[in-house]
Amino acid sequence: MTVSVLAKMEEYDHEQVVFFQDKGTGLKAIVAIHNTTLGPALGGTRMWPYATEEDALRDVLRLSRGMTYKAAAAGLNLGGGKAVIIGDPKKHKSQSFFRMFGRFINTLGGRYITAEDVGIDVNDAEYMYMETDYVVGIESNHGGSGNPAPFTALGVYQGILACMKKKFGHEDLTGIRINVQGAGSVGSNLAELLVKSGAKVTIADIDKERVEGLAKRLELEVAEPNQIITMPCDILAPCAMGAVINDRTINELQCQIVAGAANNQLEHDSHADLLGKRGILYAPDYVINAGGLINVYQELEGYSPERAERMTRGIYYNLMRVFEISEDQKISTRDAADYLVKRRLDKIGRANNVYSPRSKNLLENIHNRRA
Ligand code: NAD
Repeated sequence: MTVSVLAKMEEYDHEQVVFFQDKGTGLKAIVAIHNTTLGPALGGTRMWPYATEEDALRDVLRLSRGMTYKAAAAGLNLGGGKAVIIGDPKKHKSQSFFRMFGRFINTLGGRYITAEDVGIDVNDAEYMYMETDYVVGIESNHGGSGNPAPFTALGVYQGILACMKKKFGHEDLTGIRINVQGAGSVGSNLAELLVKSGAKVTIADIDKERVEGLAKRLELEVAEPNQIITMPCDILAPCAMGAVINDRTINELQCQIVAGAANNQLEHDSHADLLGKRGILYAPDYVINAGGLINVYQELEGYSPERAERMTRGIYYNLMRVFEISEDQKISTRDAADYLVKRRLDKIGRANNVYSPRSKNLLENIHNRRA
């Protein structure tokens, strides 16, 4: 196991992977710190009944690397990290379980800061907060930032405007047909922004109640979940699951832009080239869906919703930069985003090489001397 973990870490170039277990509470967790060039690694904790330890490890390595890219592309001074807890969120939760997890997180001394992800809610984060400061997404009375989804939706909306400008030369959404997959936290907030801007929105969700509730509140159409991806529209906004752009769907798409919140929308990186060849403009997922991360980041500096909103609006410009590089270098928008990330990591990494009396290492050394 040890050898294969190190080999996997090397494959994605991870800095650190930590395993935690506690027999008393049944806690089994893995924290992966991918890269801390830009700052402490931040990423949520996912709780899932993984079939094998290997599945959990694969997920945490993949997700933590994604966080490095998302933070770097958003211009945040954060590294990439993620935690997974192997367990069933419906069965294995308790106060002691999450307090123990919080204690473990605390031992990392701020190299990793956690938050909510699939299977973890704000109550669980509050239990962690009893034991560690290194958690964001907590209640607002503790200085927390609340639900990130409206910020993610706002970022996607800004990204859609950038795509409009690039593809159609204007940002007027009146009459523009937009298909949204998923009427969850992000999809419903996004649909509302789009409808208010005059777009003709069609939405689908496997949860009929959810989508019908939304249709009562907003002027939009409802479609079948198995048709929404390939139905004709101007813009497709995937806001449900990953890998919706795949070998089966790519030739069936009838849209001009793909711009949505879902993580890992492309089954393979090569699908970005295929979208380009079909003349479909793709907004790389980790660039357009960074609004939620931008929002929780504000907790580290003292939460301000106004600043979170201002920075989230910057996603428009981040995407414009990606499109510019894609055009200049004749590479896919996905490769252009990766290029921007690598360049930022390289530049800041170089700056970190220069000794500064304000550097954190010096402070650490002074603390060590006193101890
Ligand atoms: P959510 O769980 O609130 O909503 C997802 C919705 O998608 C649910 O209503 C679900 O029923 C629906 N769904 C699942 N499979 C479907 C299918 N095949 N067809 C149609 N609908 C389907 O999740 P969310 O927070 O809205 O996140 C949506 C996506 O955005 C996810 O991929 C998530 O990883 C990503 N994302 C979310 C945030 C955030 O702030 N919440 C931030 C970044 C990225």
